[in-house]
Amino acid sequence: MINHHPKIELLIQYVNGELPASISAGIKIHADLCPKCNNQIIELTKHAAETSFAQEDTLVGIGSEVLSLKGDEPEYNFDAQSMINNITDMPAETELKVDDTPVSITLRGVEYELPNVMKHMSLGKPAQIGKLSRSRILLDEGHIHSSLLRIEAGGSIPEHTHNGYEITLLLEGSFKDDMGEYVAGDFIVLDGKHQHQPMSELGCLCYTVVSDSLHFTQGINKLLNPIGSFIY
Ligand SMILES: [Zn+2]
Repeated sequence: MINHHPKIELLIQYVNGELPASISAGIKIHADLCPKCNNQIIELTKHAAETSFAQEDTLVGIGSEVLSLKGDEPEYNFDAQSMINNITDMPAETELKVDDTPVSITLRGVEYELPNVMKHMSLGKPAQIGKLSRSRILLDEGHIHSSLLRIEAGGSIPEHTHNGYEITLLLEGSFKDDMGEYVAGDFIVLDGKHQHQPMSELGCLCYTVVSDSLHFTQGINKLLNPIGSFIY
């Protein structure tokens, strides 16, 4: 069962079209696997559409708080929502028009079907280091780097903390760290407050969004940098 969900603040930003494409994609992948968050997004979207047509002084609820804090004009909010709909709907629609062939990636001999939202994203050539394989998602978002990361059975990542944030959306398989065990669909957000050493007994594939380098807390940070730059 999925235990880790995006926070409501993040869902509101998603609905308002305020997130980088990489994080929006992560939320969309999670929502496709999580009816609870999917329903919440539908409700927030309705609310955003309603408030975007309402007078500013009659706005009520969480969404309006965000709106007034940000000073967004209702019309902008509506456009942002259309935009995010376009981004998230496009792959599925295009897929129907073209054919039904699943788009997949092969990492060290294992083929994975990509989530719908990723089927039109460009992927970098797979690379590997030890039991880790990675393919960059070529989104060109500056310091925000997103990747598909595979940990082979028995693989782990040295204990580290985060100089920025690290979002992990588990796509297949399972892994565990100092905070628990994760299953497909789990949406995990960590930052400098968290220190962990992920390991996967049976192997897993993750979608990751990382905003800054990792800091290794055991061993010699400098020697572990190749792994750090592999994940960031
Ligand atoms: Zn959820």
